[in-house]
Amino acid sequence: MSIPAYRISLGSTSQAAMYVHILLFRCPDCNLPVAISRVSKEKTLEVVDAEFLHITCSYCDKLSDVPAAAAKKHYVEDWA
Ligand SMILES: [Zn+2]
Repeated sequence: MSIPAYRISLGSTSQAAMYVHILLFRCPDCNLPVAISRVSKEKTLEVVDAEFLHITCSYCDKLSDVPAAAAKKHYVEDWA
């Protein structure tokens, strides 16, 4: 049974503070909302905003690469 790589990296930092970044995009094809989450040790928006993200629209199945900074909304939650 294989373990996804992201679980390995999270396992070593399980004692550290964790934040979930929830980003809300507008699908470039159908204009409906696409929400994704990222996990980070950083609470600041800028750390995640520097990334490019793959988003998949659940309405029209369009795949897009978008800069995180293009999100319409960016929420951060403590994830202890
Ligand atoms: Zn769409």
